[in-house]
This record gives sequence, structure tokens and C-alpha cells, in this order.
Amino acid sequence: MKYIFVTGGVLSGLGKGITTASIGRMLKNRAYKVTVLKIDPYINIDAGTMNPFQHGEVYVLKDGEEVDLDLGHYERFLNIELTGDHNITTGKVYLKVIEEERKGVFLGNTVQIIPHITDEIKKRIKKVADKSNADICIIELGGTVGDIEGMPFLESVRQIRREENKEDTLLVHVTLIPINDIGEQKTKPTQHSVRELKSTGLQPDVIVGRCKDILTRDTESKIALFCDVSEDAVISNYDTENIYMVPMMLEKEGLGDYIVEKLNIEKREVDQEWYNKVESYDNVKNKKKIKVAIVAKYGFEDAYLSIKEALKHSCIDSNHDYKIDIEWIDAEDLEKELTLKYDEIDGILVPGGFGIRGAEGKINAIKYAREMDIPFLGICFGFQLAVVEFSRNVLKLDATSREFEENNQSSCKDFVIDLLPDQKTVNYKGGTMRLGDFLIDIEKDSLAYTLYKQERVCERHRHRYEVNTDYLDMLQNNGLKFSGRCGKRVEILEIPDKRFFLATQYHPEFKSSIDNPSPIFLGFVNAMIDYKKEKEDKHGCR
Ligand code: GLN
Repeated sequence: MKYIFVTGGVLSGLGKGITTASIGRMLKNRAYKVTVLKIDPYINIDAGTMNPFQHGEVYVLKDGEEVDLDLGHYERFLNIELTGDHNITTGKVYLKVIEEERKGVFLGNTVQIIPHITDEIKKRIKKVADKSNADICIIELGGTVGDIEGMPFLESVRQIRREENKEDTLLVHVTLIPINDIGEQKTKPTQHSVRELKSTGLQPDVIVGRCKDILTRDTESKIALFCDVSEDAVISNYDTENIYMVPMMLEKEGLGDYIVEKLNIEKREVDQEWYNKVESYDNVKNKKKIKVAIVAKYGFEDAYLSIKEALKHSCIDSNHDYKIDIEWIDAEDLEKELTLKYDEIDGILVPGGFGIRGAEGKINAIKYAREMDIPFLGICFGFQLAVVEFSRNVLKLDATSREFEENNQSSCKDFVIDLLPDQKTVNYKGGTMRLGDFLIDIEKDSLAYTLYKQERVCERHRHRYEVNTDYLDMLQNNGLKFSGRCGKRVEILEIPDKRFFLATQYHPEFKSSIDNPSPIFLGFVNAMIDYKKEKEDKHGCR
């Protein structure tokens, strides 16, 4: 097994996750089997309870584990599926060691960070690497070198490097090269962070410099000299709008070949297909744009990362000249006044969410999409609110979701979205979510089937509430079609006589990649393109 460790210096949020995923992709393009692990040195057991405002999206894996969004990058870049074991947190490690201590596993010994915590960390890394059958295991250390929380993890890396053969491990340090007011690239922060790294006993093999621009020869030589790495091992990772360009950029910088040489693995031809796909999306001049309004509330972008990426995958895949343009709309703004304009947008997407804040704005947006026949995609909360909207405005029910019960003023409401009877007995919020992969049966005569071309699909979930089956007949008799189910649970809704009005209780965005775009997103993007063309033809401006 070969190990590549990726550490970060100077600042967090440098794009270490994307660098890690890109290293993986470069190796995959050489037909190596790669697996990836993320270490998050926080004390939380997982990311499930974390605020998306602060932390970005909570990503869900097939086994239902709620993890850091970097695992989404790994899955998307590498077209692989990971499990909860691939996300190690301080919380998980300490919990295990403390549980063992209570069971007497340590036979009266003093339980310490070294060796007990570091042994547990190493055990976890090796277990994942061995189980994966991969040739190369990449481990990204979250946070920045020098953080107190990260120390036991760096020490574990040091020990692994000591235990393994020299050519079986590689350490890549990702750092920031700022540019000062007079345009000079500054290497001092990098020098300091490498010194910090060295003080833990770790010498980097490769320095990846995140910079606004490509690194100059002078910058590279300086870094090589001060940080004691070879000049070929100083790699530019400059800003780019399209994150999928990063593997190709690092490839051109020679990182792929350098890694192969250092790990002493077979030199293989690089498959160019993935690079070509990405480049053609990025390069085509005069690409037209389709504009989707995403009605959201958690500070946008990072909180809805997988949705943003899934939309991009669909544009990369389809053989057309359109790029995606996202207009982020604050759901609360739509509560006061509906500012959406059908001639300016080509589709409306209402993503997942929790709680009543902004919900009425989302319902207004769904009503507008339905009445104006604008392509609409609802995901999870967006699905539930589409049921509420339809119940209120078509069935004239006093409809709401059980989720808003605490905020209800009126006593008589139709809970069209509710907890299942057995869930109602649990009166606390944690631990009642339906998480991860579940199979969905698709009705043959439906839009969903046209998109999936399969009668059974597997998708990821993260929700607590469900469509209340007491209302199913009434909803279906009035034009809402439920085309996907999991047992008695309803998973997909659509309105057949609309251009594209579809919503899913699950999250199709979590299983989308460039290699394998989500059929639901592909359908939505194609519907937006058709709608845009239709509008242009009408105005004679195509
Ligand atoms: N709040 C809703 C529920 O718990 C939807 C969750 C979501 O959108 N992920 O069921």
C-alpha cells in the first residue's frame, strides 16, 4: 500500500480538499485504484449536527454517515463511493479509546495520547486502506499545521512514515503564497508553516502553492531552497473558476509524474478523456447560459455545494453549448414580495432545508413555478413544500408540515407532511433521521422513469418527515403524481402536464459526478435549455 498525506499550512479554506481529490484523479487517470480518507480534528463525532452557515454542506454517504463536504469532492472527482470509515474525527477516535478504557482493554495502564490515541488513528487509516483494495490511499488532514487539535494526527503520520518503506509514503503540503500590493509573491508564510511542520518531525516531499497566479521561477526556487524540497516538487495551484480544471493544471505542473516517480510505481499512460470533457466545457467560447434560481437560506454556495456541482456535471455531459448560471435567492425575501421573473430565469430549484424560516418564500416560489410552468426541481424540503403548496392552492387545504408545529398559530391544520406513526413516540430531535441509501421503485409511465430508464434506483436520503399517506388519494386524484416509492414512503412527485415539475424526497445531488451525472439533474438542465429556446423563439431572438 502506498500512502499520500496532504497537510495544509498558513490558512484553512485553501482548497486542500480539491487538491487532494485532484491528486486522486491524476492517479485514477493512470488506471491506479485510489481511496481517500479525511481527518477532521474536531471533537464532534460527525458533521450531522454542524451548522451549514459555518461549515458548509453536510454531505451524506451511502451508509448514512453525515460527513464533511470534502468527501463529496473525493466522490465526485473519483466517481467512487465512500463510507463513514473514510472520515476520522477526534470525536470518533477518543470515543473508541475511552470505551475501551472502560472495558478494561488497557489492563491498568495509563491511557495516553501517545501511544493509545495515535495507535487508534493508525489502526483506522490502515483498516480503510486495506479494506479498499486500493493501490494508493490518500489521507487529507483537515485544519492547518500548528493547530493544537491536529497534533495527534501529525504524530500518527510521522509514525506511519517511520514504519513504512521510504518509497511507500509521500507528504504533500498545501500552502498559501500571497501577493503583496506591488505584485510580489511572498514565500515567508510558507517558510513558517514548513518550519512548523518540521518541528513535528515531518519533512514535506511536495509543496503545492495556492496563489492567485502561477508561481514564478523565482518563487519556486526560493520555496525549494528554504523548505528543502527539489524544484520539481514545488507546484503551482493558481485560482481557477472551474474546480475540475485543477487536476489538469497539476498534471501540467508535473505533479502526477513526480508522484509516480517518488512512490516508485509503474509509469502509465494518462487517460485524457476526463480532462477533455472538462476542457471542452470550460473552453467553448460564446457559451450561452441557462439561469437557475435557487431559493435558499444557508448563506449559499458552500451550503449547497453538491447541488451546484450536480448542475455543472449535467452541463458538462450534455452535448450542447450551455453553461449554468446560478442566481441565489434568499427565501425570506420572497415572503414579502415575489421577485422572480419567468422571462429572466429558466428554472427554479428549491433545495433541502430545515425549519420554518424562509419556508413561505419557498412555497411562493414553487407556486410561481407551477402556475407559470417554469421547469422546477424540488429536493427534500423542496419536495415536502411542493406537497404543501399543492395541498393549499389546488386542494384548498389548510396544509402545513409537522416540522412547523411549534410555530403554528391556528389549531386546525392538515399535516400533509408528517412524522410516521412510529416516529411520533420519539420526542427528541437527534437520531431520528432517515439517512443514506434506500432503494426506490419507479413507476414505468412517468417522467422519473424516462430520466432513469430503470424501475429501481438507489439514492441517498437525509430527512425526518414524510408525505402523510392519508392525503395521497386526494393529491393524486387532483393531478399530483407520485412516481417513486420506497415501501409506503413516497419518494418522487411530478405534475405530468407541466414542462418539468419534479421533486424528490431524496438527494440526487449526492450521487452525481462528471463520469456519472445524476439523471434527475440532467433532465432538469435539459428542460431548462428547451424552455430557454422556446422563449427565444417566441421573441425571435435566437
Ligand atoms: N426538514 C425536512 C425533514 O427533516 C427536510 C430535510 C432536508 O431537506 N434535508 O424532513
